[in-house]
Amino acid sequence: MTNSLSSALPRPAGVAEKPGSGLRIGVLALQGDFREHLRAVETAGAAGVGVRRPAELEGLDGLIIPGGESTAIDKLARAFDLAEPLQQRIADGLPVYGSCAGMILLAHDIADPAADLAGNPQQTFGGLDITVRRNAFGRQRESFETDLDFKGLEFSATEQGVAPVHAVFIRGPWVERVGPGVEVLAQVEPADQEHASHAADLQGTARIVAVRSGQLLATSFHPEVTGEKRVHELFIRMIRGEA
Ligand code: GLN
Repeated sequence: MTNSLSSALPRPAGVAEKPGSGLRIGVLALQGDFREHLRAVETAGAAGVGVRRPAELEGLDGLIIPGGESTAIDKLARAFDLAEPLQQRIADGLPVYGSCAGMILLAHDIADPAADLAGNPQQTFGGLDITVRRNAFGRQRESFETDLDFKGLEFSATEQGVAPVHAVFIRGPWVERVGPGVEVLAQVEPADQEHASHAADLQGTARIVAVRSGQLLATSFHPEVTGEKRVHELFIRMIRGEA
C-alpha cells in the first residue's frame, strides 16, 4: 500500500479521517465516465489516478473500470498495451471495481458480444466468473432508475436500517450466470418496477445487477452519477480488507 506523506502527518483534532485517506485508486481513463469516478474516489479522501499507460498501474491500491462503451475500452486497452498488464494485476489480486461497461470488461463471458468489422468478437479482461448480457434491459428504454436492496452496506446502517441504493441504469448489462464463489449483492426484482421511473423489461425474472468475487466488485448501474457514495466506500473497505 502506498502512503502519501500527508497521511503520515498528525491530523488536527476534530478533523475526521475520510474512508479513502492514504489510498491511491486508479481509474481506467481511456473512454467513458472516468472523471465522475475520479471525483467519487477523491470525495472519499483517496488520491485518484487516471490510468492510460501500463506504468500508471504501478503503486495502485485499487482500480476502477468506468462506464462507457466496453468495445471502445477493450480496443483502446489493447492498442495502449494495457490489456495484458491489467489482466496480470487482476490475477495478482488487485482490487477492481467495474461499473456498467466496467462490469462487462471484468466478465469471463459475454452472452452477446459485439464483433468488429473483421468479425472478431470483443474481448474482456476477465477475472469475474460471470456471464453478462449487454444492453439487457430492453431496447425501447435506454435507461431507467430504481431503488435496490444492496448487500454489504451494513456499515451505513441507521436506526431505520440500510437505506436502498438509488440505481441509474444506462444501457446496462445484467448478469445471466454466476460461477461458484461469486456473491450476488443486488437484483432488480419485477416488484421493484412499481417504483421505477421507467419500467425495464425484466422478462418476469429478478435480474442480477451487482456481484462480488474476492477483490472484484461490479455493478450494472452508475453510482458515480447519483452522488451515492456507499458503493465506492464498500470498494474502499474491500481494499482495506475491512469488507
Ligand atoms: N452498453 C455499454 C456497453 O456495452 C455499457 C453502457 C454503460 O457503460 N453505460 O459497453
